[in-house]
Amino acid sequence: MKFGGTSVQDTAAIRKVRDIVKATLEQGNKLPVVVVSAMAGVTDTLVRMSEKALEGRLEGSVGVLSDLRSLQTRHLSVLRDLFGNSGRLDAKFRGQGEADFNAAEAVIYERFGELEGLVRSVATLRELTPRSQDAIISIGERLSSFLVANAFQGTINRELLDIDARTFMITDDQFTCANPRMDEAKRFIHRALVTDMQMRGVPVTQGFIGATGDIRVRGTYTTTLGRGGSDYSAAIIGAAIGAEEIQIWTDVDGMLTADPRIVFSKARLVPQLTFVEAAELAYFGAKVLHPKTIQPALEKGIPVRILNSLNPKSPGTIISSERGDTNGPTAIACKRDVTVVDITSTRMLMAHGFLAKVFEVFARFKTAIDVVTTSEISVSVTIDDASHLRQIAQELEVFAQVETLPQMAILAVVGEQLPENPRLIGEILTLLGRFPIQLVSQSAARRNLTVVLNNDDLPAVTVQLHEKFFPE
Ligand code: ADP
Ligand code: ASP
Ligand code: MG
Repeated sequence: MKFGGTSVQDTAAIRKVRDIVKATLEQGNKLPVVVVSAMAGVTDTLVRMSEKALEGRLEGSVGVLSDLRSLQTRHLSVLRDLFGNSGRLDAKFRGQGEADFNAAEAVIYERFGELEGLVRSVATLRELTPRSQDAIISIGERLSSFLVANAFQGTINRELLDIDARTFMITDDQFTCANPRMDEAKRFIHRALVTDMQMRGVPVTQGFIGATGDIRVRGTYTTTLGRGGSDYSAAIIGAAIGAEEIQIWTDVDGMLTADPRIVFSKARLVPQLTFVEAAELAYFGAKVLHPKTIQPALEKGIPVRILNSLNPKSPGTIISSERGDTNGPTAIACKRDVTVVDITSTRMLMAHGFLAKVFEVFARFKTAIDVVTTSEISVSVTIDDASHLRQIAQELEVFAQVETLPQMAILAVVGEQLPENPRLIGEILTLLGRFPIQLVSQSAARRNLTVVLNNDDLPAVTVQLHEKFFPE
């Protein structure tokens, strides 16, 4: 059971998490593992703090230390609420309750002490390496899991079971976007969350974070799996323990027919998705699911369910190998702010190895390509991360002409029906008639039609397609 940032954003939300987990336990035969994200907004704040520290902006009302104190106040006040409600603090902080509270408070202060040490080092050295960035942002998850574990203590768990993911989520050393070393991680996960647990209760752990080896061993370092990576952590953990289901609890009812930030209340719940559909939607921008989530679940055939912690009665979206019974597309996904790179060369004509040469340049700068189309003498690709674009363009210009178009958007219409019903493709493209399209790509195997257009046209196009295929 993975709970995202909004689901743990404050005391009320954390109490809902406790009730949801409790309800699962009351079904009798289920023993969940709870995976949490940082409280809403905390990772963003930590990223901003590390950037400010790099500029040396420690003091002052908008300095890093002031941000740190606000974060500390937010976490401490949730801890106080949680203890207050259990009655342990109400008795004027006396007895065991007081001891527990003081110990818990000391842990929060200790984590903020660690954070302060890190940001001060960044400010002193004026150097922010990806490794120090990960050490800083991992604190968000390490704080929230501690709070959730405390909320469970006494009601669900007899003891505090806040398990440090850095003892089992073993990754490579690509800091800020680390890749789990699956075999090792799965073995360690099983040991930490199944063998060592021995029915001690419900383990609470962190999504998103890992380490280059068991963090208790010298010479190992904290890593993170990339923004939004808690869903991926949950899927890896689910696969490693052989879970019956991987639940992603968030702030919407499930996968919706389109991004609710664009089509608002018109977005409808998609009750059922295949693994392929879900993976494609996530890949093309449906933020509710991290794109890497599906793979570990698919390998083990474990269904993934997206659920709403603000509306736990809703059945959510179930993702499995079963397909839903719709005739049209299943959903629309989109991703803003991508860059199109057009690479043209007459040397491409009938030449072998040209594409390999092009892709090698992107690979060297660790830049992932999302969409590709080719013609006789040109290849167009889209990239999300344009931070190395200048160098990439320079290298490509050695053998081709390069044109870059920033501020473009990807829109993907996804559905198992697409390859079987070619008329749908025609209908989609006709609807797009008024808008200039930069690229079109269709993959029968992956059940999608993808177009690349201007950022500014994206809302209107999404709304039109949505009205056509998902009328009220
Ligand atoms: P969490 O913090 O729980 O991981 P996220 O913010 O990462 O939550 O993902 C949930 C958000 O994804 C929703 O609030 C919604 O705005 C956004 N979203 C974008 N596209 C979709 C979609 N197709 N279906 C559902 N949510 C979507
Ligand atoms: N807290 C992390 C982030 O904001 C991971 C996650 O929420 O999945 O990116
Ligand atoms: Mg998320």
